[in-house]
Amino acid sequence: MATSILITSARILRPDFTLGFGDIYIEDGRIAEIGKVSVEAEETIDATNKLAMPGLVNLHTHSGMGLLRGANDDLELAPWLERLWKIEAKLTPELVYWGSMLSLLEMIKTGTTTFLDMYQDLDQTAKACEDLGIRGFLAWPIVDEDKTTQKGKPLDNAKKFIKDWKNHELVTPGVGPHAIYSCNPENLARAKDLADKEKTFIHMHLAETRWENETTLETYGKRPVPLLDSIGFLDDNDIFAHGTWVTKNEIQTLAKAQVKIAHCPTSNMKLATGGVMPWKEMKEAKLTVGLGTDSVVSNNNLDMFEEMKFAALLQKAHRWDQAVLNAKEALQMATLEGAKALGLDYGLEEGRSADLVLVDLRSVSMVPHHDLISNLVYSASGSVVTHTVVNGKLVMKDRKVEGEKEIIEQALKLAQNFLIE
Ligand SMILES: [Zn+2]
Repeated sequence: MATSILITSARILRPDFTLGFGDIYIEDGRIAEIGKVSVEAEETIDATNKLAMPGLVNLHTHSGMGLLRGANDDLELAPWLERLWKIEAKLTPELVYWGSMLSLLEMIKTGTTTFLDMYQDLDQTAKACEDLGIRGFLAWPIVDEDKTTQKGKPLDNAKKFIKDWKNHELVTPGVGPHAIYSCNPENLARAKDLADKEKTFIHMHLAETRWENETTLETYGKRPVPLLDSIGFLDDNDIFAHGTWVTKNEIQTLAKAQVKIAHCPTSNMKLATGGVMPWKEMKEAKLTVGLGTDSVVSNNNLDMFEEMKFAALLQKAHRWDQAVLNAKEALQMATLEGAKALGLDYGLEEGRSADLVLVDLRSVSMVPHHDLISNLVYSASGSVVTHTVVNGKLVMKDRKVEGEKEIIEQALKLAQNFLIE
């Protein structure tokens, strides 16, 4: 694969979201030069009528569930979970690998260059990151020992996973205590110790449903956020998915600890979690809020363009306020804010890591050009992306990804194995 790429004559979405025009020269994984570039590269892409923008950051998903798309829809939560667990019991490492390959392929094809994940057999997802060349932040799942299906102790497995994948150029291993209802406070404290000792991140589901709040209150006498605060769990390396059922005071607590939130509007709507993440209050408290698709079981795709639109529409509908979350803010969530949550070296600037995509400005949903940010959020889908570059490597060229056909065929074949009644 080419180690130098020259993208010529592109419209460029700058870090402050103003538009520029010029060439982008990429060398050894970095953006070496932006402007009028006259060097030769191993690969040249004519980006006339294309927009170069930073790659999207999916801040919460479970890629290993890729083969489960469409296998569990439209059920109430209890039968939904029961059915899901029956299906998941049939998952082998091989099925998780090909599920991950399918998910990662979809992300690359819809402009995502980095994702944050938590799922069983995560070493298979890490392998898929290597095979397809996408950047993954992977949090090894920790649940109480009486609830796990993992061989051995989850915490020991997490330690091994971190050791195996530390300092990898694409994979960043972390710790993933699943949720308060599946991980008791002693276990949460141990998970935090491990993340602190390894100087890595924690990813966890938090305050997703009213049920979670009620059972936490019944079991521990505290709601989820005060409980985590009382055990010293809240910290700037925490990235929490959902945060839908939180109070104004709890938002202040989260902001003070500088935790990060992954908002998953589609999943929250599809699973009818009822609460809507209080974006306005989080914004006022200056919390970092990125955007996640959640898995293909609760979405059912991994298209971050759709996620931006749903994020904006959900807040507007919920608050009776058309201006509450605008297109620019939705795009910031899916790019800069997600990158900030993960501490990425990010953006279309010289010296930055080359994680970027090209969007076809002649694609019908991108025309006309009154406001390209509006088009990206409200009109486009991931199919407007023509090229995806991760870590300076071209992983999609003219909408083609190497090995795509095999992934589709394998996914179709293997998914037959766990069809249930
Ligand atoms: Zn999730």
